[in-house]
Amino acid sequence: MSAIRMDGKMVSAKVRGSILEEVNKLKENGIRPGLAVIIVGEDPASQIYVRNKERACEECGIYSEKYALPEETTQEELLALIGKLNHDKNISGILCQMPVPKHISEQAVIDAIDPSKDVDAFHPVNVGKIMVGNFDFKPCTPAGIMEILDEYGIDPKGKECVVIGRSNIVGKPMAMLLLHRHGTVTICHSRTANLKEVCARADILVAAVGKANFVTADMVKEGAAVIDVGMNRDENGKLCGDVCFDEVNEKAGWLTPVPGGVGPMTITMLMKNTLKAAKVQNGILD
Ligand code: NAP
Repeated sequence: MSAIRMDGKMVSAKVRGSILEEVNKLKENGIRPGLAVIIVGEDPASQIYVRNKERACEECGIYSEKYALPEETTQEELLALIGKLNHDKNISGILCQMPVPKHISEQAVIDAIDPSKDVDAFHPVNVGKIMVGNFDFKPCTPAGIMEILDEYGIDPKGKECVVIGRSNIVGKPMAMLLLHRHGTVTICHSRTANLKEVCARADILVAAVGKANFVTADMVKEGAAVIDVGMNRDENGKLCGDVCFDEVNEKAGWLTPVPGGVGPMTITMLMKNTLKAAKVQNGILD
């Protein structure tokens, strides 16, 4: 029997609808959530991401400003812009599209954003808050995965959860969110011994490796929920995930496709964080 396809597009549309409703209510009370998106240089993939973020803002009723800076922008100039936006009342959230050109320090950019406007949740203050479980912003990709699990009634509580990948943007925060929801979490990486055996224990398996066809059916427990974060290109240039979809589809209980799984959720969670930022900045607590 095939796995249940976890439809990130559907979940994303649903969440965006509820964000729009909340944004409209805030506007009735004179509060307008706003997102500033900064892009430095001409990286084509980044241009697409930024355009998609602007479109998502429109869809969710969120005001947005785009700052497209030339490749030769200095770190000082970029940090000065961030400093200005930190104090701008029209802006609830600030995002600088990564990667930035090599002469600019990514960490310096992350550190410059006011933590209360850090809607990517990359600032060390927000990373620390996630660690202790007292946070306003969840990192977008892991947050999107939690929404998908919730939508399909998959509760991590008491389950074996295995995350392949330990990056700061996906693997590590993913593990923390699963842990906060009482999963028993293992993080795997390139030096993990017996990777197959560890993965095959998982009731919830999250693959964030960045390698096409990495997760094969023998790494998957019968009936497991498998989340494919990977965004890779196959030999024909077609977008594909980290999971061997066809064979894992026959063994897993639930599976996210690529495209149409985790991808659409990430930007939606950015919108959710921008809404949250506007609420927190205006003293509105959930
Ligand atoms: P990353 O920083 O390159 O991290 C990859 C992780 O995979 C590392 O921790 C690495 O281990 C581990 N790894 C590599 N080879 C391995 C192996 N043979 N066995 C076990 N672990 C291995 O990547 P990332 O930023 O987390 O992204 C991962 C994937 O998700 C990429 O395809 C990316 O495009 C995609 N992504 C998608 C979204 C979305 O919205 N859908 C968002 C972000 C990322 P080491 O630490 O030991 O090197």
